[in-house]
Amino acid sequence: MDIKTLIKGLHHVTATVNEVQEDVDFYTKLMCLRLVKETVNFDNENVYHFYYGNEIGSPSTIFTTFPYKGQGVRDGVIGTGQVYETVFSVPDGALQFWTKRLKTQGIDARIENRFGRNFLIFDDPSGLKLSIVEDDADKREPVWSTGEIARENAIIGIHSVVLAVEDTLETMRFLNDFGYDIIKSDDKYSLFETVEKGAGNSLILLDGSGLPKGINGLGTVHHVAHRVDTIEDSLKIKAYLEDVYGISVTEVKDRKYFRSIYFRVPGNVLFEIATSGPGFLVDELKDELGSSLKLPDWQEVRRDQIQKDLVPFDR
Ligand code: ZN
Repeated sequence: MDIKTLIKGLHHVTATVNEVQEDVDFYTKLMCLRLVKETVNFDNENVYHFYYGNEIGSPSTIFTTFPYKGQGVRDGVIGTGQVYETVFSVPDGALQFWTKRLKTQGIDARIENRFGRNFLIFDDPSGLKLSIVEDDADKREPVWSTGEIARENAIIGIHSVVLAVEDTLETMRFLNDFGYDIIKSDDKYSLFETVEKGAGNSLILLDGSGLPKGINGLGTVHHVAHRVDTIEDSLKIKAYLEDVYGISVTEVKDRKYFRSIYFRVPGNVLFEIATSGPGFLVDELKDELGSSLKLPDWQEVRRDQIQKDLVPFDR
């Protein structure tokens, strides 16, 4: 069986972050993403799960966070076996705007050239590594125009994720089977794309020699999710990974806005495969997305208690 065309590209990136308010402010006010869903971690209802994205939270534009401050989670270490950096795309010419914007906000940033392109690299308030790259071929709708950022400068969505691994060859072989073809390499980085190609459908593999071993915790990416059209496709991939690689893959989990399975790739990065649908409009109208706490039915029964235990924040 060949699963190579089933993975369409990225779905979302999920990170463990620190404080609630600084997270909301950074992603909605500085990055100008839209908070498309305020819910809780379905596996730990004391912690928010924020979904940021474009106007409707289209797959491949979604960046999600668990603000774990005060919940006994230690600081993480960014390193191998993890998503090392999350890359966002902007239209051609917008990098200058972002360089200035970050500087005005007192955020240190530097440019690194990879594959002949400039990546503007900086940290979020929790220490997560982010970057912005210009991509004129990215035809997705820009994220969310708040009036503060003109359309020609607005973030379009997630461009790619940088995976740091100790054994690049082993991971390359896996990615090639899984659905990502190698496009180009330089001395440290290799660029991969799915059949759908381009921004939102790309991965960058970083040779992790000399990097520390990644440790899960505050300020680290927890997992990266890839999108498929249907749950049947997820199940085909699960069967393939179990048969061919002996990888243990979780059962299907109902994430309300998508259905997911999880596993660790050779190289130890936690991958999720999520269905493109049903999406964020299942429990809110488009105009109201992210405007109030939404809970799945199984947690709705405890809403009062859940709400009382959560840290209040300003939008
Ligand atoms: Zn996820």
